Amino acid sequence: MLNIVLFGPPGAGKGTQSERLIDKYGLVHLSTGDIFRANIKGETELGVLAKSYMDKGELVPDAVTIDMLRSEVLKNEAAKGFIFDGFPRTNAQAVALDEFLKSLNTEISLMLALEVEEEELKTRLLKRAEVSGRPDDANPEIIQNRINVYNNETKPVKDFYQSQNKFISINGIGEIDEISNRLYQAIDQLNN
Ligand code: AMP
Repeated sequence: MLNIVLFGPPGAGKGTQSERLIDKYGLVHLSTGDIFRANIKGETELGVLAKSYMDKGELVPDAVTIDMLRSEVLKNEAAKGFIFDGFPRTNAQAVALDEFLKSLNTEISLMLALEVEEEELKTRLLKRAEVSGRPDDANPEIIQNRINVYNNETKPVKDFYQSQNKFISINGIGEIDEISNRLYQAIDQLNN
């Protein structure tokens, strides 16, 4: 299996690039943010809970997020592999994902981290708000909080994969195609 963690701060381009990767490699895309938003739309209990955190730019608690992710993986047992987009976002999530994949006799192949500087992220998110309709993209204070949460809680997850020699940093600035090609190169090196 090819299991990729597509990593990076909010606005780094994870969603856009995930679409490219699923097409090219035939993977299942699991975006925890998208799954939460689908639950909000469907007015589920999980959606109501998630919304109370997402609206503030805070992380949804680990236990809830991990349980949800596990059940999404199990729904796709025949998958050739997964792209985890927006997960793991804490060390506890990374540890839980490793244990869970091990129980399925598989593992993370690679973490690809899209690197984009903070000012560019803020510009991109405010622009995205015009089309995404996401309340957490439209408010500069919430954007700042999401970036702070990324720096404090999520960024350290890099070290977890670096210590397993699975971490690759990718320049997330440039044309979309150009960035996709950087990702393909990193993945293809793994397969060869
Ligand atoms: P995203 O679509 O990845 O930007 O995520 C939007 C929001 O969903 C985040 O700001 C968090 O509130 C929540 N979220 C998404 N993924 C996770 C995760 N792995 N752990 C905790 N909260 C998450």
